[in-house]
Amino acid sequence: MLLLRLRVVCLLAWIFLPFAAAAEEAPPLRVLILLGSDYTLPASVVETEAILSTLTASTRRRMEFYTEALDANRMALSEYEADFVSLLKRKYQGRQMDVVIAVQAAALDFAERHRPELWPGTPVVFCAMPANWVRGRTFAAGITGVTATVDPVGTLDLAMRLQPDVRQVVILGGVGETDRAFLDGARQALRRFQGRLQATWLDHHTFEQMTEAVSRLPPDTIVLYTVISRDTAGRIYTPREALARIAHASKAPVYGMIDTYMGYGITGGKLQSLETDGRRAAELALRVLGGESAAAIPVLPPLPSECRVDGRELNRFGLPESRLPAGCSIEFSQPGLWAQYRREIIFVLLAIVLQGAAIAVLLVQRRLRRNAEFAARQQFSELAHAARLSTAGQLTAAIAHEINQPLSAILSNAEAAELMLAAESPPIDEVRHILADIRSDDLRAGEVIRQLRSLLSKHAPEMESLDLNTLAAGVLNLLAVEARRRGVAMDMEFGELPPVHGDRVQLQQALLNLILNAMDAMDDIPQSLRRVTVRTAANGKDGVEMAVSDTGHGISPARLPHIFESFTTSKQDGMGLGLSIARSIVEAHGGKIRAENNPGKGATFCFTLLANGNRKPPGKSAELVP
Ligand code: ADP
Repeated sequence: MLLLRLRVVCLLAWIFLPFAAAAEEAPPLRVLILLGSDYTLPASVVETEAILSTLTASTRRRMEFYTEALDANRMALSEYEADFVSLLKRKYQGRQMDVVIAVQAAALDFAERHRPELWPGTPVVFCAMPANWVRGRTFAAGITGVTATVDPVGTLDLAMRLQPDVRQVVILGGVGETDRAFLDGARQALRRFQGRLQATWLDHHTFEQMTEAVSRLPPDTIVLYTVISRDTAGRIYTPREALARIAHASKAPVYGMIDTYMGYGITGGKLQSLETDGRRAAELALRVLGGESAAAIPVLPPLPSECRVDGRELNRFGLPESRLPAGCSIEFSQPGLWAQYRREIIFVLLAIVLQGAAIAVLLVQRRLRRNAEFAARQQFSELAHAARLSTAGQLTAAIAHEINQPLSAILSNAEAAELMLAAESPPIDEVRHILADIRSDDLRAGEVIRQLRSLLSKHAPEMESLDLNTLAAGVLNLLAVEARRRGVAMDMEFGELPPVHGDRVQLQQALLNLILNAMDAMDDIPQSLRRVTVRTAANGKDGVEMAVSDTGHGISPARLPHIFESFTTSKQDGMGLGLSIARSIVEAHGGKIRAENNPGKGATFCFTLLANGNRKPPGKSAELVP
């Protein structure tokens, strides 16, 4: 079995190995690309690349490529032609070319002249040849090629479609050999436009003169750029770079006939693709390399030229696309912002709309909140007023007494004065004293009424600078009779205080409530033990503190955490609003209130306020929002 396998392997090796060796040993196909101009000319680059890529993509045979450039466009070839020929002869000695591809007219002419000497029997394929340049020419057997269209007629037609009112054409060209050939083509073409276009030839000028001339043209002119590789001053140019400078300076649209000019300033033209030209030449070369006789292949006719325009130049000269013939391709057109950034624009618009909607909702919410706040303030104001009225109700007896006392004193004093005045020699000094007493009693009664009125009146919050000690003294004064009535001793321990910023009536109300609660808390203890102490002190650097302590029953631990909440009351007739109103008032002033049981008996309620200089600028706190 093993022996059989070995035999099969040997047999297969015997059959196929010679073929494999032959494939490996086959000589490479040698292709010489002969350029009429220089290697770096854009047209040379495009043609060479097209030839190389087509050839390498189409055969698996190993290929060797050689390139030579005559540079006949810029140099006087005749002066070094003989030397060049002998150089090539030496250089390629022993290297038989399989095909020579002649690119541009100078290369074809050179190949025709020196083929017998340099490449005897080698087929020549030419390209980059305008059809009218080879028309009527006969070539030796073995020379064939492809032709291209240089289409000045089509290009001028296109220009006149785009600029229908124009009557003036300016033709630009250089003095190089190719330049002249292109200018000749333009001259012939213009015969067709006789009577329609008046031609100005800028073909015997320096490059500066041409640039200067186009920079002064009126926009309703057609500029036909042919080729400028050399100007009359003998300066050498790369035609495409020369075009770019001319087009930049020109005040009128520039048209051209070669596709390598696209994107370098021409508005457009009827163009032949050099890339297609190179590819067609390579395909022809492949046929020859494949064994077909070059002599049997006729020169290929040109493909029709293609209408191509530059969208940016149309825009620059305000030429409408609608004037273009059907099928004309617009390149480099800058899409509008909408086409370019449609997604982004939609996204941004959406974001703006959503943001707008969110802002609207927030504004509505703010308005609603403001309204609610306003209503709450109103209600708080009403509530606080009601609470003050209720407090006043509790104090009615004391207040009546407080007013009655001076009134009775006034009456007694007045009666005494009358009696004294009825005497024969009235004691004027005594009467003066009595009158002074009457006056002070009257002031005292008046002050009680004033305080009561200010406490009971409905008023809009009014922020002012206040001395808390004076404010506390006023409240204690008002409560003095009530305290006496209940047998409560009132102590005042006033420290030195900075002024505070606040609403007098509201702060009075808060303090009044704390003191009355303190008195209530001591109802159940013997009168001798009832004591309320009102203490004021500076609180650190930035505040003042007011504390009301009593010796009553204190606050039950269960109630303590909720003591400032509304409707928390332990009294039968209590509403449970006094402390919550007091807290609202203190907090609206930017302060804090707390309650705690004393270590011994009773409780202490204490609130702190910021001193004037340390208050935040008037904001919410100044609005006295509950
Ligand atoms: P009201 O006086 O109508 O009950 P407040 O809000 O002023 O409403 O007081 C709520 C409750 O807090 C009182 O019912 C009482 O139980 C308690 N309280 C207030 N002050 C004191 C105090 N000094 N000592 C003990 N308990 C107090």
